[in-house]
This record gives sequence, C-alpha cells and structure tokens, in this order.
Amino acid sequence: MKRRITRRRFFNQSLGLGAGALLFKDLPALTGGQPVQVPLIITSHANATGKKAMAAGWEVIAGGGAAVDAVEKAANIIEEDPNDMSVGYGGFPNEDGVVQLDASIMDGRTYNAGAVACLENIKYPCSVARIVMERTDHVLMVGRDALAFAKKWGFKEEDLLTERTREAWLRRRENLSDRDDWGPPDHLKDLPEYQRPERKEEVDDDPHGTTNVLAVDRNGDVAGITTTSGLGFKIPGRVGDSPIIGAGLYVDNEVGAAGATGRGEDVIKSCASFYMVLRMKEGRTPQQACEDALRMIADKYKKVNPDFLPGEQFIAINMKGELGACRMTGKRPGRMSVQRASGYSIYTGSVAFPTGQ
Ligand code: ASP
Repeated sequence: MKRRITRRRFFNQSLGLGAGALLFKDLPALTGGQPVQVPLIITSHANATGKKAMAAGWEVIAGGGAAVDAVEKAANIIEEDPNDMSVGYGGFPNEDGVVQLDASIMDGRTYNAGAVACLENIKYPCSVARIVMERTDHVLMVGRDALAFAKKWGFKEEDLLTERTREAWLRRRENLSDRDDWGPPDHLKDLPEYQRPERKEEVDDDPHGTTNVLAVDRNGDVAGITTTSGLGFKIPGRVGDSPIIGAGLYVDNEVGAAGATGRGEDVIKSCASFYMVLRMKEGRTPQQACEDALRMIADKYKKVNPDFLPGEQFIAINMKGELGACRMTGKRPGRMSVQRASGYSIYTGSVAFPTGQ
C-alpha cells in the first residue's frame, strides 16, 4: 500500500534538515507552489501588547516548541498587562467590583481542552485552564472551586483590580442611580469639592476586548487560547463565551482554529468557533468562515429584530497558515497580530455589515 505523505510527517521529517525560516523556504515545491505560511502565531490583540505577546510566543515556536506552549506564553503576557481592561489583571470588574475571569485552551494534538469560568484573584486564568486540560479528566471548572483548584496547583491569589479599574467601577456605581445612597448627600452634591474629576481614558491603538491566541507549530500541530475578564460590570456569576469550547474557541488539528471576542451571549448561542472550523473543513477560507459565522448570527435575528447586530469580532487560521478576521459592524475591519518566520505584521480582514462610513 502506498504510504501517504501527510503534512505532519513531512514536518517531522523536515525538522531534521534545518531550522526556522530556511526549513519552510523549501516547502513551496511540496505544497504545489503555494506560499508557505506556517508555522505562525496570531492574536486578536492588534496592538503593542499583542506584538509583545507574539514575540514571546514565536520564541517558543522558532525553538521547535509546541503550539500549546506558545499560545500560553503569549496569552500570559496579555493577561498580566495592567493597562488592558478586557483581560486578566486590570480587567473590568463585575457589577460588585470583583474581577471574574473566563478562559479556555484547546490542544489540537491531543484533542483535549480545559477551561475556567468566574475565576477570581488569579492573574493567569489560561494557565489554570491548561491544568484542567492536562491534569484532570474534566473540561470546565468554575468559581470558588476553580480558585481552590488553582491554589492547590500553586497559583497565588492576587487583587486583580488596578487603580484605574477600581476608579472606573466607583464612578459607574456612583452614577448608576439617583435613588440609591451612593454619591454625596443631596444638600452637598453640587459643591465643587464633591465633583469627581473627569478622567480622560487613553485611547488604545486598537479597540478590542478579550484575546484569542492561535498557533500552528513546526510540527503542524495547532492550539488556541481565549482569555477575558468578560463584559465589564456584568452580573456576578455571568459566564461568557470565552470558556465555552466551541463558542469562544475551537481547534481541530486537521483543519485549523477559530476564536471569538465581543458579545458572548450570541457567540454561545451560535457555537460560533465550532461553526467557523466546520466551515473551513467544508473548504471555506478562514476569512470566509469568519464572515459566514457573523452572517449566520445576523440571520438568526432577522425575524426577531433585523436591526440587532451584536458587536463581535471573529478570527480564524487554517493549517496552511491562511488568515481570517471579521468584525460584525462599524467602520474598522477585523484585525489581528501575526508573527511568522518572516516577521510581525497586522492582518486586516473585513466588516460583515459596515456602518458609519
Ligand atoms: N466575549 C467576551 C464575553 O462575552 C467579552 C468580550 O470579548 O468583550 O465575556
């Protein structure tokens, strides 16, 4: 019987020939002239932190490391950034002023996954998710028990509120209602000393929430992470799409990977990341798969509320290293940071339903 040369086998064999860029330069002849685009690591964070995270993740991949190690190392950098108000340390708290984190990880090589939801006081939720994946027979752990589990594995408890997010929460709390007892007494509230100074928020170079990190390594294995502090000021206990395998993240070693950011409720209902991977399996490019998934969600609302377009961004990669990024609405197309042997770049995708042009 003829032994089929799978891409994986080719990668394994090639590893002995040389390292990094040189090795992949030889690939076009064997990929029917297609440009070589793997290995690679990408993140939905198309900003300075994303770039830093990609450099760290790339170091792992370039050294022959596994995609799963690369995505964890990269995601940890975004999780620990105090200025990022959507992920990990410094993420927006819930309604009660408590930071509750959601994260998931999936390893295509082993078809294994792990996740944590409503995890408090731990800076690196994706690393706890990885322990759930690798050291237990479970996939998802939540809340108080997820915290106790993390502590058993040596994670230390830390206050995840920064000065900036604590103040943001206080300002919101004080302004929530004039019928509660927050805010200065009625007879004093107009005095200048009782006015909270307006704080100017720095505008980041890219609007984003949550992060997806996806990678294909030199062995042809794929892995992904989605990690978030969830919707700012959410109801305590609310779980978004990020820790739900198939919703905020999905990985398939034969196809590629996909991740979601934005309004998690719709991502959960649509199983969006699974759907994107399924579409790629059916032959759609990653870019088409992202657009298909967003259109599918919009279609579902047509009969209910045709004007409702949830704010979301989807990203995807396939095993050839092709890319996809699409945002539901707005002017700005979906974007992501991409790191390959040829260097760092920003990939710009599309907007499914452009508005505000
Ligand atoms: N998808 C996240 C959630 O629903 C939030 C976000 O991406 O902004 O928890």
